[in-house]
Amino acid sequence: MAHQYVYFFGADRAEGNKNMKGILGGKGANLAEMAGLGLPVPPGFTISTEVCDLFYKNRKRIPQEVCKEAEKNLAKLEEVLGRKLGDTKDPLLVSIRSGARASMPGMMDTILNLGLNEKTAAALVAKTGNPRFVYDSFRRFVQMYGDVVLGLRPVKKDDVDPFEAIIEEKKRERGIQRDTDLTADDLRDLVARFKAAIKKQTGHDFPEDPMKQLWGAVGAVFDSWMNDRAISYRKLYDIPETWGTAVNVQAMVFGNMGDDSGTGVAFTRDAATGENVFYGEYLMNAQGEDVVAGIRTPLPIVNLKKDDAKSYAQLERIRHILEKRFTDMMDIEFTIQQGRLFMLQCRVGKRTAFAAIKIAVDMVDEKLISEKEALGRIEPDQLNQLLRPIFDHAEKDAAIKGGRLLARGLNAGPGAATGRIVFNSVDAEAWAKRGEKVILTRIETSPEDIKGMNAAEGILTARGGMTSHAALVARQMGKVCVAGCGELIMDYGRRTMTAKGRTLREGDWISIDGTTGQVIEGKIHTKPSEVLQVLIEKTLDPAKAPVYQTFAKVMKWADKYRTLKIRTNADQPDQSANAVAFGAEGIGLCRTEHMFFGEGKIGPMREMILADTLEQRKVALAKLLPLQRKDFEGIFEVMAGRPVTIRTIDPPLHEFLPHEEREQRHVASEMGISYEKVKERVESLHEFNPMLGLRGCRLGIIYPEITETQARAIFEAAAAIRKRGIGVEPEVMIPLVGHVRELAHQERIVRQTAEAVMKEQGVKFKYLVGTMIEIPRGALTADEIAEVAEFFSFGTNDLTQTTLGVSRDDAGRFLVPYVEKEIYAKDPFEVIDRDGVGQLMRIAVEKGQKTRPSIKLGICGEHGGDPSSIEFCHMIGLNYVSCSPFRVPIARLAAARAALLSGPKAEANHKKAKKARAAKNRSGLKKPVR
Ligand code: PEP
Ligand code: MG
Repeated sequence: MAHQYVYFFGADRAEGNKNMKGILGGKGANLAEMAGLGLPVPPGFTISTEVCDLFYKNRKRIPQEVCKEAEKNLAKLEEVLGRKLGDTKDPLLVSIRSGARASMPGMMDTILNLGLNEKTAAALVAKTGNPRFVYDSFRRFVQMYGDVVLGLRPVKKDDVDPFEAIIEEKKRERGIQRDTDLTADDLRDLVARFKAAIKKQTGHDFPEDPMKQLWGAVGAVFDSWMNDRAISYRKLYDIPETWGTAVNVQAMVFGNMGDDSGTGVAFTRDAATGENVFYGEYLMNAQGEDVVAGIRTPLPIVNLKKDDAKSYAQLERIRHILEKRFTDMMDIEFTIQQGRLFMLQCRVGKRTAFAAIKIAVDMVDEKLISEKEALGRIEPDQLNQLLRPIFDHAEKDAAIKGGRLLARGLNAGPGAATGRIVFNSVDAEAWAKRGEKVILTRIETSPEDIKGMNAAEGILTARGGMTSHAALVARQMGKVCVAGCGELIMDYGRRTMTAKGRTLREGDWISIDGTTGQVIEGKIHTKPSEVLQVLIEKTLDPAKAPVYQTFAKVMKWADKYRTLKIRTNADQPDQSANAVAFGAEGIGLCRTEHMFFGEGKIGPMREMILADTLEQRKVALAKLLPLQRKDFEGIFEVMAGRPVTIRTIDPPLHEFLPHEEREQRHVASEMGISYEKVKERVESLHEFNPMLGLRGCRLGIIYPEITETQARAIFEAAAAIRKRGIGVEPEVMIPLVGHVRELAHQERIVRQTAEAVMKEQGVKFKYLVGTMIEIPRGALTADEIAEVAEFFSFGTNDLTQTTLGVSRDDAGRFLVPYVEKEIYAKDPFEVIDRDGVGQLMRIAVEKGQKTRPSIKLGICGEHGGDPSSIEFCHMIGLNYVSCSPFRVPIARLAAARAALLSGPKAEANHKKAKKARAAKNRSGLKKPVR
């Protein structure tokens, strides 16, 4: 049998189903599924995503065999409906829509009412007796076709749509305000004017032949896969270019055939809050794009009960059928044609983080999905939204009482945002680039605005509903959004916005509350979210915090399924306490040098570095010892027996030095030496490449007394904590080790100090000595290093820097273009470069475990908080990841998802590694070398 490229659906049967998204795209697969379920779907056919690939390989032409197959399906469609495309008595009209595997709302093109020409329009007038409807459909078709296929569209950012300009001109001539006041003759005239404008400005005639229209439209939809907005969107959401789009050709149904017709979009649950209520909007006597384009503000779906009770009841039934079948919250599009309901689309609905979490949790309670499935549905980074700030209530109340409430719109994207007004996307991007916080303020947004929306703190629109472009995209991006704020009058030309008689200009501050829909003049400070108020500030009772409760449930499930432990990178007791509140199980990295910047410590630290002699250095170190001990005690106390990895001093010394004369003079007087001497010493410590200079364990080797002092501070703190009956488990970590002898040198000092402190203090405590694996030689000789190290912690910041030969401090200038040019798929300092750095990690794990089967393995580079990198750490069998306190919840969820979703192969490898480790554990340790 020949390869199938076209799939039919409708009339209660379908050649596809919901599991065929790869071939049919999301829209095509779900239309097929709905048709198969016997739901009222207008029939049609899907040209598969494989054809998209062929289209580009075939110099943007559709292969002959595909055309033939599509024509056969068209014939089938005509037969099912008893109408023909181009028929001059009873013409069939079709829609042509894109549909990729992943939803890309509004990014590609759509054409409706295809098949209309002068003759078929006349036939339809005769058949329906409704010339206004026919010519309204015709002018929409010419407008869409002219834009999408023939390329007549705005060029510059402030340009008005050329077709809208013609409509406005016509309305002016006729002295009318609204589109609905245009008569059939007006609309017919508009069709003629549109065609003339197309001819004049593009040189193309508008095609009268419906088959020519059809192939033009199908080609244009495939072509829209590579338009700028689709490309940007794919980059933003990691959608591979190779997926391609399918094209759906479907019989038209009309929502604009009179007051018994209408169209709407709905979610099976509230997409903003996640509540289990039918939620959506509709417009009577309108076509689909009127609802989503935000041109008319639609009505809430419950009103449909009054306008068309039968269709409403049918939609309610379909809502439940779909949720049961897809076991998810669905986003649907429907049309009512003269009292008859049709389903045009369904797809898994986009939702806010709040909604995603609530829906997942509720669906577990409703037994629609399992806990594991629920975890799979919440992207770890979505948790960020729950941690995002809300407005300071007192300040906001005062602003409102003070009369600064400008307007109220729809609460389309929850959260609080404050920023300066900009009126277009290009400015939003440019202002954000120079560090300004901006609110993108538009009459309505369109897919062209995607980059500006991404750059803005929040989005404010004057038109459009909860399912308008602005609302949908903002929610998906996790942006704060107030939409459909009809009281705002925007003047793009003057760059002003007026409401309640007050005019705000570009650059003025404005605050928007995406949870309530309020728009407030001026700046309002934000404050921590509900989750933070419960966990960190402890100012909110968890019983009164529903969002927190849902969050806590997800965290509980995540903890049930993850195998990775989650630690945190923290150097202060308060940071450690925050991390514990977020669920951290230990500290994976305490950068001791950060402590030296604290109260009263930088002075003695500088004295220590600038000292000429051992004696001078010891004097300075003696000042530092009690200060560090106090810091460690604070951390141990908060961590209450959880493991704490403390790293000995690591950064290049120049980072601590006084570079300005005033500071150098101050240090000189503190040390009782001359300013010139200090200046000379600073100059002598200059390094050309400090990142590869005197840093890490090299410092401790050149100045062993520094390591000894730090070890003493750690162990004296541990002894003090032990004496207070609190558990303590220090893990001393030596940085930048490339040779086992470096580690052995430092380890000896640490162990001797531990023994001495235990003897002096008369207490015993457990401790470990280990190392960071952060330079390639360390990874490659991990078997030797593991003879000494009781644990490895991957310092993937430095390991990335040294493996790629890319300076972590200077990479900004070329890494962004590198990612844009797809030389690197992702910034390697954000997401582990699995093939390079990851390969070294695998080697180190394997070699380390060979020598020391029980070796503890973790990661403390920034990648420890990145979900993809966490998955990789899970796959190679690390014991824990360590990340910044605020990423701990994200890491918990990412670790659970890695355990559940990283695939059977990854799972099998993981199990094998664990089993091997357990077996080796039983065979005992090798003796460490000294
Ligand atoms: C690392 O290199 O990954 C690391 C955690 O250490 P630092 O960032 O302090 O160099
Ligand atoms: Mg490092």
